[in-house]
Amino acid sequence: MTDVNAPTLLDDWLDQRLLVETGADGLYGRSALVERLVGCISRQVMRAGRDEQAEILRFPPLIARRHFEASGYFRSFANLVGTVHCFCGDEETHRALIRAHDSGQDWTQAQKASDLVMAPAACYPVYPAMARRGPVARDGMVVDACSYCFRHEPSRDPGRMQMFRMHERIYIGTSDGAEAFRARWIERAGALVERLGLPGSLAVANDPFFGRIGRVMARSQRDQQLKLELLVPLASDENPTACVSFNLHLTKMAQAFSLMLEDGEYASTACVGFGLERLALSVLRHHGTDEAGWPEPLRTSLADVASMLSP
Ligand code: AMP
Ligand code: ZN
Repeated sequence: MTDVNAPTLLDDWLDQRLLVETGADGLYGRSALVERLVGCISRQVMRAGRDEQAEILRFPPLIARRHFEASGYFRSFANLVGTVHCFCGDEETHRALIRAHDSGQDWTQAQKASDLVMAPAACYPVYPAMARRGPVARDGMVVDACSYCFRHEPSRDPGRMQMFRMHERIYIGTSDGAEAFRARWIERAGALVERLGLPGSLAVANDPFFGRIGRVMARSQRDQQLKLELLVPLASDENPTACVSFNLHLTKMAQAFSLMLEDGEYASTACVGFGLERLALSVLRHHGTDEAGWPEPLRTSLADVASMLSP
């Protein structure tokens, strides 16, 4: 595989109608082929975790603003946040809004922040939902969550979208349990990526925290190895793209949402997040669009999901 320019790769995929332009960078429609790959990869994530008896939960891609605030996400990633604003005015404000729009002015002044925020990761709604149920047993629990996520990072790199799907497995329990969970999923994700016929490499990572304080947080996250990533070359061999992330939160999420263990301690949490579009597009990048040439394990599991998306 040779390096290509990311926008060129995107243009190729748009020309081939694998992705569909919407007028905004990082926001695309997906063809049936991409969806089949996404479905197949998502199913493989669930298969890989069959022994965990995870509770499967699906949330909309929005979270309650008070939960978003409790998570502290806006402190660390202010630049990525998308809030939902809605019109809350009266008829007079409505008339002013239309006048503003029709004369080329900003019509959004009357839009007010609602109590909803775009979910930045699939696991965010899980912690408050589990906390509400009461203390968690010391042997821990696993939740399987998958949803579209929003991050305001417009780009012509097809691997960097503004709306994309994240399939996550989330552990809630003791700190030893969280570490064992993460180690287990590093193995499993490696095997999954291998089955897709993709070259993966594991690296210690840090999140793109915002601002000067963010640099300190990034260093601390890296020093404690709280975040690891499985990288796969997508647009570039030299700078492979993070397709799966493995996170230890220690008790940060538990403290934010009062998520307790039975013995009164804060729970430790960990999550593994599979970027479904990044993995699907990596398959296309490495194996092309002709399914006949794809690796056998991939073709077999694709046949399973094919029926879901054929007319
Ligand atoms: P993160 O919470 O940043 O570790 O994201 C979890 C996973 O979501 C990453 O490993 C990626 O596979 C995927 N991901 C993150 N940001 C994007 C994006 N802008 N576009 C597509 N996939 C993404
Ligand atoms: Zn997560």
